[in-house]
Amino acid sequence: MSQLKTALNKLYKQLDGTGAQLVAVSKYHPAEAIREAYDEGQRIFGESHVQELCAKVPILPDDIEWHFIGHLQTNKVKYIAPFISLIHSVDTFKLLKEIDRQASKCGRTIDCLLQLHIAKEETKFGFLPEELSAMLSQEEWKELRNVRICGLMCMATNTDDEQQIKGEFHEAHTIFEHLKATYFTDNDSFKQLSMGMSDDYPIALSEGSTLIRVGSLIFGERNYG
Ligand SMILES: *Cc1c(COP(=O)(O)O)cnc(C)c1O
Repeated sequence: MSQLKTALNKLYKQLDGTGAQLVAVSKYHPAEAIREAYDEGQRIFGESHVQELCAKVPILPDDIEWHFIGHLQTNKVKYIAPFISLIHSVDTFKLLKEIDRQASKCGRTIDCLLQLHIAKEETKFGFLPEELSAMLSQEEWKELRNVRICGLMCMATNTDDEQQIKGEFHEAHTIFEHLKATYFTDNDSFKQLSMGMSDDYPIALSEGSTLIRVGSLIFGERNYG
């Protein structure tokens, strides 16, 4: 069995019974690698660059669910609005409004996750917990008819300290539950907690992740050249 098949099947076993789903992160990997995972049954793929994603979509099967997981510039939303299934990385209200506007032009509703900044690093994008509460406590987002807020996404600090990672994922889950209970009581669509990558997905699953985003474990090291 190829390394890709072995890795995918191991992940499927670990996900079995958890209710969580796998986003296979295919950024920087060629369409052939995606096709190989597709042939194993994988249907959700995550990409983080608009141009790369738009080049892959037309040459791969129509029933792939494409997720956008990287930092998204407002001026690029229009390129992915016609087909994107879920945008994990909404990090400003301005971006959410632009996704709504472009979705409306396409006659669609686009599912979105709000990116929570939880890591103890300056470089990560996302809302601070208090910024999320501040945004959701205002009514403006409820007027956006063409986006559906389906939950949160976060990244843990890039560290070997498993206790710290566990603590951050735990905090993300607590915030998720709090926001759900406060702002989404009559809204079943707020149910996704996207967290966990190749190095920390087992910890994320133990802390209630519903979507793990795994790349290098499946596809190998990325070639950024
Ligand atoms: C690249 C990326 C991943 C996957 O990372 P791996 O370590 O290769 O599993 C997950 N989430 C985001 C936001 C990414 O940019």
